[in-house]
Amino acid sequence: MDISSVTLPNVVVHLDFKGSPLKLEYLESLFPLMKSHGVNGLLLEYEDMFPYEGNLTNISAKNCYKKHEVKKFITNAYNFGFEIIPLIQTFGHLEYVLKLAQFKHLREDQTYPDSICPNKAESFTLIEHMIRQVIEFHTSVVPLKYIHIGCDEVYHINECQQCLKRHLSTIDLFVHHVKTISNIVSSFSKETTVLIWDDMLRQITLKEWYNIDFQSLNDIEIVYWDYEPQVKVSHINLMKYHKKFSNIWIASAFKGADGRTAIIPNEKKRFSNHFSWFNLILDYKFGGESNVYNFKGIILTGWSRYSHMDPPCELLPPSIPSLIINLIFIKKIQEGISYDSANHNMDVIYKNYLSTDIKQSLLCNRVPLFGQNNIEWSSCLFNGVELYSSLKKYISVSTAISNELNNNFFFIEYYSKLKTINMNTVSDNIVWCNDSFYQLLDVENKVSNILEEYYKKEFIVEYVTYLTFDLKKKLHYLMIILNDYKKPRIWERGPIAYNNNNI
Ligand SMILES: [Zn+2]
Repeated sequence: MDISSVTLPNVVVHLDFKGSPLKLEYLESLFPLMKSHGVNGLLLEYEDMFPYEGNLTNISAKNCYKKHEVKKFITNAYNFGFEIIPLIQTFGHLEYVLKLAQFKHLREDQTYPDSICPNKAESFTLIEHMIRQVIEFHTSVVPLKYIHIGCDEVYHINECQQCLKRHLSTIDLFVHHVKTISNIVSSFSKETTVLIWDDMLRQITLKEWYNIDFQSLNDIEIVYWDYEPQVKVSHINLMKYHKKFSNIWIASAFKGADGRTAIIPNEKKRFSNHFSWFNLILDYKFGGESNVYNFKGIILTGWSRYSHMDPPCELLPPSIPSLIINLIFIKKIQEGISYDSANHNMDVIYKNYLSTDIKQSLLCNRVPLFGQNNIEWSSCLFNGVELYSSLKKYISVSTAISNELNNNFFFIEYYSKLKTINMNTVSDNIVWCNDSFYQLLDVENKVSNILEEYYKKEFIVEYVTYLTFDLKKKLHYLMIILNDYKKPRIWERGPIAYNNNNI
C-alpha cells in the first residue's frame, strides 16, 4: 500500500453567470458547504452580467447584477476565505460584446461575433476599458491576486485583411495579443497575476515553441483544461508549459461538459474526469527531473452555456452532487489516499473513500449508489434536490412523448396531405396529444415554481420555454390536423400523388 497525496494549493470553483444570473443569496448559502469541502477560490465569469458603465453599458444584459449586489457578494465570499478571481474574455468568446452594433466593426470575421480583431486600435481601447472597470471595481472591494483573461477557443484569428498584412504567424499574433492584455492588467494592478486557458497553445510543435518570444509572458500562469471522462492530456504540452510558464493550473468540469443540451450532469463522467486528472498529476515528474511537480491549483469549471449564443446546459442547483463528489475526492487525495493498483479504480474509490462523506454532505437517507449510468440522488435533502427531481421528471415525460411522436405519429402530417388517416385512431390520438400537452405544462409549472428560489423571472421564462417549446409546438400542430379529421368526409379515388417536391 502506498499513500498517495497531492499538493494542490488552490481549489477554485467556476461560477458561470452568462445569460443566467443565479440569485447571489443562493450562492452565498453554498459558501459553508464549499468551504468545508476545501474550496478556497471562486472564478467568476460575469460575461454579460457584470454592471459595466459609461460607453460599455450595452455590454451588460438588462438583467445584469447591480454593483451593490456584487460588492456584497464578493465581500462575503472573501471574508469566507475565498480568493476572488474575475474572468473576462479578451480574444475569443466575446459574443456578448461583438454581437452589438456598437462593436460589430471589431469582429475578426464580420459573420462571427466571437473573436475580436487584435490589430485594431479600438479593440484594445474596448478591452482596456472592460478590464479597467472590472479591476477597479474588484480592487475597491477585495485584493485581486488573480485575474483570468480567457483566450480559449479563438475560432477566428489571422483572417482579416488588416491582420494578414502583418505577415505574422497565428501563434505570434496570439502571443502578442496575450502580452498586450497582460500589460494592460499590470498597468491597473501590478500585483495581479494573469491566468489564461491553454488550448490555443496546444498545437504548436516543440520546435516552434522554443522560437516563440515568451519573455514577457513569464508572469502569466496557464490553465490546462480537459473535461473528458478520460483526459487526453499531452505530456509534451505539459512540458512545453513547464518550460515557459512559472505555474501550471489544471481545469476539470463538474457540469457543462456532457453536451450542450444536457439537463443534469452525468456524475459518473464528471467523477471520471476528476479521477483521470488526478491519476495523471499524482506524483507527477517531468522528464529529467527528480522532484515531484506541484500543480498550482485546480479550477472545477461549471459551464452554464457552451457559448453566449447556446441554450442553457445543466443548472447549478441540481449539479451540487457532482460538485460535492469531486470536492470530497480532491480533499481525500490532498490528505492522502492509500491504494494499490489492484483496487485503484473509480468504483472502489467511490465506495471505500467517498460514499460515507457524500451521504453526510448531501443529507442522504442512504448511500447514493454508483449505478450503471449515473447516481440517484432523490433520497437526499441537499438544496437543489427538488429541482433535480423535477428535472428528472421532465426528462422522463419529454423522452416518452418524444419517442411516441417519433414512433407512432411521424407519418401523420404526410398522410394528412394524402387525406388518408385511419378514422378510428383520430379520437384516441387527440386524447393522447392533449394529455401529453398537459403533462408538459404540469412539469413546466413545477420546474418554474422551484426555479424562483434560484433565478429571476427572465431566465426562468427562457429555461422552461426552452425545455418544452418544441414538443408543445409539435403536439399543438398535431391536434390541429387531427381535429380537422373529426368531421365526416369523402375521399378521392387513389392513387394520390404527393411527393417531396410538394414540400
Ligand atoms: Zn484582424
